[in-house]
Amino acid sequence: MDLPPIVQTGAGVLRARAAEVSLDRLATPELEGLIATMIDVMRAAPGVGLAAPQIGIPLRVIVLEDRPEFLTSSAEAEVREKERVAFATRAIVNPVLRTIGDTHAMFFEGCLSVDGYAALVERYREVEVTGLDEHGAPVHWRVAGWPARILQHEVDHLDGTLYVDRMLTRSFSRVEHVRQRFAGLSIAEIRAELGV
Ligand code: ZN
Repeated sequence: MDLPPIVQTGAGVLRARAAEVSLDRLATPELEGLIATMIDVMRAAPGVGLAAPQIGIPLRVIVLEDRPEFLTSSAEAEVREKERVAFATRAIVNPVLRTIGDTHAMFFEGCLSVDGYAALVERYREVEVTGLDEHGAPVHWRVAGWPARILQHEVDHLDGTLYVDRMLTRSFSRVEHVRQRFAGLSIAEIRAELGV
């Protein structure tokens, strides 16, 4: 099957506010097809999340998943520091995000629409999201750690925001440089190295 390409930064669709999905489109073959395509594109990339505008569709739909094999391929200390945990595939239509508490976390983050780069981005540690699943059933998910970061990143896409709008600009790097320079270092050590 031919998958749509992932839209890259600079395209207008990534900078526009995406439209709410009207309730009469829930549980239709059209919406289910869109979500299935988004999951395929996310897995092929591979990535841990995708928003509909990233395939050129200006609708408020996101998909997310973090697979156990992604965790085992990362260093254990890094997985622990990021509070990264595997979770099953989720699709959320018309997500509404609420941040919880005032604890933040700073880590390198990338985006399939800013291919090949990463930067340090501060996010809330814990969030809660409500919305609908692909069948129109209510979704409520309260989560902390890495999944909370993925959620904030994907919901940002629906408002035309990219991580580069929130990043510490001095940390903006090609992913290979992040790996070469900072492998095995804590975030505190990386910040000291970068002077941020
Ligand atoms: Zn992204």
